[in-house]
Amino acid sequence: MNGFRSWDLILSTAEIILNHSTDRITIRQPDDWHVHLRDGAILEAVLPSTSRVFHRAVVMPNLNSPITSLDKAVAYRKQIENLIPKGHDFKPLMTLYLTDDISPDIINDGFNQGEIFAAKLYPANSTTNSSSGVTDIKAIDPLFAMMESIGMPLLIHGEVTDPDVDIFDREAIFIERELIPLLSRHQGLRVVLEHITTKDAVQFVEDFSGNLAATITPHHLHINRNAMLANGFRSDFYCLPVAKRELHRLALRRAATSGKECFFLGTDSAPHVRGAKESACGCAGIFNAPVALQSYAEVFDEEDALDRLEGFTSLFGPKFYRLPINKNFISLVKQTYIVPESLDVINHDNSIERIVPFHASKKLKWTLSV
Ligand SMILES: [Zn+2]
Repeated sequence: MNGFRSWDLILSTAEIILNHSTDRITIRQPDDWHVHLRDGAILEAVLPSTSRVFHRAVVMPNLNSPITSLDKAVAYRKQIENLIPKGHDFKPLMTLYLTDDISPDIINDGFNQGEIFAAKLYPANSTTNSSSGVTDIKAIDPLFAMMESIGMPLLIHGEVTDPDVDIFDREAIFIERELIPLLSRHQGLRVVLEHITTKDAVQFVEDFSGNLAATITPHHLHINRNAMLANGFRSDFYCLPVAKRELHRLALRRAATSGKECFFLGTDSAPHVRGAKESACGCAGIFNAPVALQSYAEVFDEEDALDRLEGFTSLFGPKFYRLPINKNFISLVKQTYIVPESLDVINHDNSIERIVPFHASKKLKWTLSV
């Protein structure tokens, strides 16, 4: 038995045992506009958690060997497609990892061939596997010009990496220092500021009257920095951009539940095995794919905005990306769901490692109805 099967079994058991539903909501099937699926054994273990719920997903390109060419994007897409479980109707949308020396032709060819959906900008060393990222954003203006002319979206990890800037200020400073000039140099470029974490980003995206949107993760709606730093260091809650003060979390909740089309779902689910999270230099990332939709539902419920959930999860993303909305529907029921404590990864040498999901062993108020 491999990892995802045991996970599905646990899900079904929890759903059956705790079946005392009173409320139910049905929405268009969502898409995940920002996910890390990794490769190899981790991909095999985590993919079903995403493909079970989401129809499409924008797959991040920051593998150990980043997706910097058309050939790599095609090979990665095929690797993912070969692992989609039977019965899951899932389409990965591939992204290109921008570097200082990628040629505009790769962008043009990849887009025209329908293989590369968007390009991802990581400022060098901003997060996991970003050491090959861009060192001088202005220097790759020819790439942005090409994207602007063909209509390829730009997805941004919006943090400066200047060591002089405090880690809690890196998003706000990025907006001032890099994003505003970039948007004014390329006014036709469609840009997504990914996984926003601050009231500054909320305000900026809300006020900007152009081709700019933002994704918001479930974890940044649920936790502030205390989850990671109070009562002992908790690496399970360490992600990048890091969770900020409570006032920022509240601003994000207001944005996500506002019904404004510039804010939509992107889980930034980012799995790491236990040993990589708990080490002298622990990896950033929260694996939330198995509980993402339930987590969002809980937030919208608490904010008395369940009528706006579908816009955020399933309508605004396709509108921004100029894709059709999904035909299928998915239901959630209001019943207690106990999140499993871990997911097994079966390595190719048959050794087993664990990935701890967001909300591990906690109770959530909403459950997927399958
Ligand atoms: Zn990410």
